[in-house]
Amino acid sequence: MASIARKAASKTSSVGLVFFRYSDIRLHDHEPLFTCHKNHQQVLHCFCFDPRVTSPSAKADFNSKSLPTTNYLKTDVYRSKFLLEAVTDLQSNLRSRNHNLLVFNGTPETILPSLVSQYNVEKIYTHVGETVEENILLSSIDQSLQQLPGSTCSLHRIWGNTLYHLDDLPFDPTQVGKFPTSCSQFRQKIEKQCSIRPCFPVPVLKSAPTATGAEPSSNMPTLADLVGSDVANKYALDARAAFPFVGGETAALARMKDYFFDQDALKDYFHTRNGMLGPNYSSKFSPWLSMGSLSPRLVFQEVTRYEKSRVKNKDTYWMIFELIVRDFFRFYALHWGSSIYHVWGPKGKPTASSRNKSTKWTQDLQLFARWTSGTTGNPMIDANMRELAATGFMSNRGRQIVASYLTRDLALDWRLGAMYFESVLIDHDPCSNWGNWTYAAGVGADPREDRYFSIPKQTKNYDGKHEYIRHWVDEMKVVSEQQLRTQLTRGCRKQTWNGGGGGGGGGGSGKKGKGKYGSGRKPSSKGGNGNRRNNGKKSAKKQ
Ligand SMILES: Cc1cc2nc3c(=O)[nH]c(=O)nc-3n(C[C@H](O)[C@H](O)[C@H](O)COP(=O)(O)OP(=O)(O)OC[C@H]3O[C@@H](n4cnc5c(N)ncnc54)[C@H](O)[C@@H]3O)c2cc1C
Repeated sequence: MASIARKAASKTSSVGLVFFRYSDIRLHDHEPLFTCHKNHQQVLHCFCFDPRVTSPSAKADFNSKSLPTTNYLKTDVYRSKFLLEAVTDLQSNLRSRNHNLLVFNGTPETILPSLVSQYNVEKIYTHVGETVEENILLSSIDQSLQQLPGSTCSLHRIWGNTLYHLDDLPFDPTQVGKFPTSCSQFRQKIEKQCSIRPCFPVPVLKSAPTATGAEPSSNMPTLADLVGSDVANKYALDARAAFPFVGGETAALARMKDYFFDQDALKDYFHTRNGMLGPNYSSKFSPWLSMGSLSPRLVFQEVTRYEKSRVKNKDTYWMIFELIVRDFFRFYALHWGSSIYHVWGPKGKPTASSRNKSTKWTQDLQLFARWTSGTTGNPMIDANMRELAATGFMSNRGRQIVASYLTRDLALDWRLGAMYFESVLIDHDPCSNWGNWTYAAGVGADPREDRYFSIPKQTKNYDGKHEYIRHWVDEMKVVSEQQLRTQLTRGCRKQTWNGGGGGGGGGGSGKKGKGKYGSGRKPSSKGGNGNRRNNGKKSAKKQ
C-alpha cells in the first residue's frame, strides 16, 4: 500500500495519526478521526493487533492467586474472526477513499512511537478508555511518547462510543459518590437532563504522509495468527446459529437497515426481545456495538427516522432504553474502576451478619467445565451454553439464566463465568460483561438488586414449547415433555433468594429482591489480588 500512502507529502506539513482500537473500528461518528482530519494537513490511520489481547498465547485468566488458571484464549475464535473482518472492512473503506489503514501485529506502545519518528507525527488521536485495562495501555503509550527523543507528540483522548456524552451528564462519574446507585436512577436523570449529540460525519480525508526512510511493513494477520492454527482450522459456522455474524461497519449498517426497515422488526422489539431462537427476536447489534463498528448515536438517529417514517411506540423506545442500559455499564465501569473485577464487586465484602451462607462460592473446576461444555444435565442451561460454545452468541435472557445458575445454583465463583464469557462471546465488551456479571452475582452497586432466576419458570415463560432446548440439545429431541420438564430442576438448589423469576430483558425492569449485603462502598482503583486489573487508575474526565 506504499503507493497509496505516498501521496503529496512533505516533512514540514502537520501530520496527525488516528489510533483505532478494539472498540472503535468505524468511519462514521468517530470524533478522533474527524478531529484529526480537521486539525492536520496529513493523516495516518493505524490499528495494532496487540498480542496480549489477540494471540494464541493471550489467555483469559486473572494472573491471580485468588482464581485458578484456565486455558481459555483471551479472544477466542468467533470474536477474533469478527475482529479480522472488522479491520479488513475498515481498511477497504479507507482504500475506497484513496487512503489506507496501517495494520501491525505488536504492542501499541512500541509501534506508535516508531510511527511518530518515521512520519514526524505531531499528535495521536484516539478514544478515551473506560476500563482499567484500557487506561493502563493509554498511559503506557503516553510514557513511551514522552521518552521519544526530539518529539513533542502527545496522545489526545476524546470521549466516544456511548449514547450520551460524558461531558453532558448531570453528575461526574469519575468522582467518588457521584454516580447513581441504580440503572433506573441513571436513566431517569439522563433522560430528564441531557440530550443526545448528533453523529459526526465521515470527514473528507486529507492526504497521507510519506515516511522518512523505508515505509513500515503493514500486515493483516490471519485467523491462525490470532488463535493458533489448530483452533482456526476447526472453525466453521454452525448451521444452527441464530445469526451469521460478519464483522465491520459495512455489515453493521446493512444489519441495522435490514432489522429496522426491511424486516420492520423494531415495531415489535419490546415484545420479542426476550426470545432465544432465530435472527430477529432482538437486533443482534451487540458485536458491532462492542467493536465500535456501529455507533449508538447512529442507532438512535435511525430509530428516530423509523419513528418518523413508520411508527413510534413502546417497542421503538425500548431500543433506546437498552442503549441506555449499555451506557449505564460503561459509566459504571468508569466510576467503579477495578472493583468490577473483584469478587465482592462494587458492593464490597459483606459483613458476617449480612452474608447469606449460600454466597460461599467455590472454584470447583470440574463443575465449571460441566457448565461451560453444556453438560450439567439441566437442558435449559445446556442449550444456552452449547449455543455459546458453538457460535459465540447467546441471547440476553439466556445470559441472565446461565449466570444465575452458575452463581446461585452451582455456587461457583462468578468471576469464572465472567472470564469464560470474556473469552468466548463474539460481542464481549468489558463494561457490559463484568458489569452484568456483578449484578448477576448480587455484588453490583445497587443494594436492592439480588435476583434469582428459577430455571423451570424461565423455561415456561421463554421456551414454553421447548423448541430452543431441542434446537441445541440433541438428547432432548427424543425425550417426552414430562421427562424434559423434570430435568429442568437438575442442579437447582433450594430457592433462598427473593425475586424468583427475573423480569424483562436488560437491566432495570426485572423484579427486585431485597439486598443481602450492606450498601455500596466507595469506588476504588485498588483491588485485592495484585494483577493488572487491579492496578490501574481511573481515567480523568477531561484528558
Ligand atoms: C451475564 C451477562 C453478560 C453480558 N455480557 C455482554 C457483553 O460482553 N457484551 C455486550 O454487548 N452485552 C453483554 N450483555 C448484555 C446483553 O445480553 C447483550 O448485549 C444482548 O444479548 C445482545 O443481543 P442484541 O444485540 O440482540 O440485544 P438487543 O436486545 O437488540 O439490545 C440492543 C443493544 O442494547 C444493548 N444491551 C441490551 N441489553 C443490555 C444489557 N443487559 N447490558 C448492556 N447492554 C445491553 C446491547 O448493546 C445490545 O446490542 C451481557 C448480559 C449478561 C446478563
